[in-house]
Amino acid sequence: MHTSNDENGVTHATNGTTSPVDHPSKQISIAIVGGGIVGCVTALGLLKRGVSVKLYEQARSLREIGAGLAFTTNAQRCMELTNSDILAAMKAVSTENELAYYTYKDGYHTLSDDPNDMSERELFRLHAGKTGFDGCHRAHFLDELVKHIPEGVVEFQKRLHSYEQGDGDGPITLHFEDGTSATADAVIGCDGIRSRVRQLLFGRDNPSSHPSFCRKVAFRGLVKMDKAVAALGPEKAHNQCMHMGPRAHVLNFPIAQHTLINVVAFADEAEWPHEKMTAPVSRQEIMEVFKEWNPTVRTIVSLLEDSTDKWAIFDTYDHPAPSFSVGRICMAGDAAHASSPHHGAGAGFGVEDALALATVVDEVNATLADGKVGRNTALEAAFQAYDAARRQRCQWLVKSSREVCDVYEWAHPECGSEPEKCLKEIEWRAHKIWYFDIEGMVRDARSAYQRFIQGG
Ligand SMILES: Cc1cc2nc3c(=O)[nH]c(=O)nc-3n(C[C@H](O)[C@H](O)[C@H](O)COP(=O)(O)OP(=O)(O)OC[C@H]3O[C@@H](n4cnc5c(N)ncnc54)[C@H](O)[C@@H]3O)c2cc1C
Repeated sequence: MHTSNDENGVTHATNGTTSPVDHPSKQISIAIVGGGIVGCVTALGLLKRGVSVKLYEQARSLREIGAGLAFTTNAQRCMELTNSDILAAMKAVSTENELAYYTYKDGYHTLSDDPNDMSERELFRLHAGKTGFDGCHRAHFLDELVKHIPEGVVEFQKRLHSYEQGDGDGPITLHFEDGTSATADAVIGCDGIRSRVRQLLFGRDNPSSHPSFCRKVAFRGLVKMDKAVAALGPEKAHNQCMHMGPRAHVLNFPIAQHTLINVVAFADEAEWPHEKMTAPVSRQEIMEVFKEWNPTVRTIVSLLEDSTDKWAIFDTYDHPAPSFSVGRICMAGDAAHASSPHHGAGAGFGVEDALALATVVDEVNATLADGKVGRNTALEAAFQAYDAARRQRCQWLVKSSREVCDVYEWAHPECGSEPEKCLKEIEWRAHKIWYFDIEGMVRDARSAYQRFIQGG
């Protein structure tokens, strides 16, 4: 007997089959849906552990948007443990802060009556942590990662429609929108914030299947370093700087070996009526939002392109996933725990997920070598252990990210605009992210697996 996992309970007929996953009897096969950063990192972790991996991506190629991304110390350590090629790929394209700390400035008030006076009040500094905060251009990082994925692993233009999870020893069959299908022992949904896998797991009508709008938008852009230095001076341009203020904030940090700065400016937006997650916006409109801010912030937004996009900020705070796995299907990255980006850690937590998945799959390999337990039972236990190791921390991030946004915007009930209180609030949260006991997570995931495999 097979269970249907189409959201309407319908199993779809198919008219073609992609090359079935070809693997020796003991080698497990895993299908990854979605080739963003988390899907690629997860693939590299599993390949390293001898798993037969297929990655199905809906687009024609693996590509990322032209924006910046930064990885904190925890993410870098997880990259190293998942597959050292991942860390090497990131290091090949990343840019370190010049200073050993991040600066938080008052972006709102002016220090003099001179409209061109670019001096700002420094509110506090946050020490940058053991390995700092490496900024990179998303597309450059993805391009580097892809170099390590062997040919034949990725299949393009494969948009997941539904799957059937067979009972007993049967594989899972994935159905794609082009009418083809494929099989695997297990499926990992890395298909992003509007995850199809999540909808299939919980049902289209379940609120947990959909992210909600945070009433915030982000204006994003990249600015050439020489232009940024000329306008802002070298210190602000070459270092991460957070400009705090009422109901909005602006962040800039260097990327692409200090040839570009990444700018992201957040502001309130009452509703998001668009189907897409982005909508066009002119620089003039952004400047209007920040017209009362100090000259530095007004200058930063004036450096953006004439027309750009605003990005809707959605997250999973209102309706978190009840579980990151059901049977032999699980989710990782934004599919599991899409967060607002105020900790700059969403992708980094996806990298932590990849390490947890690599760990539990390692355990499955060891179990199958013993031959005492069937592969599907072992994979179910592995994904249960993955959920146990990851869900609480990831859902904390989603909540904390909303709260830290309030701190940046002087709206947190306990700190208002008081610098010392704001620093304290930001610091403990940053340390919880950066100094995560990764080895502890690996141990916990292994012991949870052993518990579940013994029926605990
Ligand atoms: C403004 C902003 C700034 C941020 N800054 C940072 C930062 O500095 N540091 C950090 O760690 N994080 C940051 N984040 C968060 C980070 O961008 C995300 O957490 C991360 O990109 C999620 O990666 P992912 O692979 O899970 O999903 P995605 O990147 O969304 O990839 C999903 C992939 O799945 C594919 N797909 C979707 N549906 C299907 C389907 N049905 N079938 C097949 N394929 C499918 C898509 O085409 C896509 O390739 C930021 C986010 C924002 C919005």
